[in-house]
Amino acid sequence: MKKTVQSLFKSNNFFIYLACFLLCFLFVLFIPKVNGEESMLANLNVTIDKQSFQTSYIKKDGHILVPALFLKHSGVFVDWEELHHSVLISSQKEQKIALPIGEKYYYELNPKEDFWNRVDLPATSTDYEGSPYIPIVPILEKFGMEIKLDSDEKTLNIKTPYENDYQSFYKGSTNQKRVALTFDDGPENHYTPEILRILKDKKISATFFVVGSQVEKHPEMLRQIAREGHTIGNHTWDHPNLIKKWSREVKEEIIKTQNMITDTVGSHSSLFRAPYGSITKADLITLHELGLHNILWSVDTLDWSGHSAKEILSVVHKQISPGGIILQHNFQSEEHLLDGTIEALPKIIDDLQKQGYTFVTVDDLM
Ligand SMILES: [Zn+2]
Repeated sequence: MKKTVQSLFKSNNFFIYLACFLLCFLFVLFIPKVNGEESMLANLNVTIDKQSFQTSYIKKDGHILVPALFLKHSGVFVDWEELHHSVLISSQKEQKIALPIGEKYYYELNPKEDFWNRVDLPATSTDYEGSPYIPIVPILEKFGMEIKLDSDEKTLNIKTPYENDYQSFYKGSTNQKRVALTFDDGPENHYTPEILRILKDKKISATFFVVGSQVEKHPEMLRQIAREGHTIGNHTWDHPNLIKKWSREVKEEIIKTQNMITDTVGSHSSLFRAPYGSITKADLITLHELGLHNILWSVDTLDWSGHSAKEILSVVHKQISPGGIILQHNFQSEEHLLDGTIEALPKIIDDLQKQGYTFVTVDDLM
């Protein structure tokens, strides 16, 4: 018997076929997600020692997975080991675990026996769009942290053992009218000589946070900075955002620059400034271990954006207070972005001196 399309339409069978097709389609669409409980959700709020963060996350097997690097905010070191396609997490206390991505377990190092014990995980570590995501709660609990999920399930609250340690330095004592001028991203040979000329003319010392790769290009400029009595701080080798770097890379950035400064001028200070002011608790611990302090600022002139001298002076007048640290730059720029910095500098010095301020280097403020 041969059925035409018209006869199919006329029969009830057509609607049965259609219903089956739709059911199969829905099944294919939803089953994998129910099975793996995997879903990409927008953002998760996390507080770590009462400081707020946001992170992307995946929910898998009923557990929250976050990018491995996010855990650096809690003070654990996070590294990538290509050979075993694993995330390595370690603490100051020599505790060390390795999470192979794609597996539902991790290895824990038993340092006494130099043996890695396998421990089951409640969820599988996953590669998501090129980044390893790992279950945050069981891992951080393993490292002695207290974790609570808010009743609305929207905020994860973490208390670390390092709550009051490893802070950045924003400003000095407010008892004396002292302020520090700081210049980041140099040395180079366009703006730096101008800044040095003005500082010499006004008989003032400042602090230069230098980039290692720039010191390599302009060693003579760094020698002049040192010779003229200014303080030199470390601003990494090539100015990365440290939040996006593995712990080992952060350490390399700092040490390589420290060595370059020492080789060029014979000594180095204990001052460091994170590019963009962007840093995690793990990076602050690394700095502490290397004998360095992270120096931020209390007055942001935003000079890098091409601000005019007038705009820079207005920011300084609004934000200055005793102990203040003023952020400015000395990078080379084809767009002459820092012309305002040079024009404003003598006026900043004159105006603040008239208000009774004295200029010191950052190490004097500490
Ligand atoms: Zn910078």
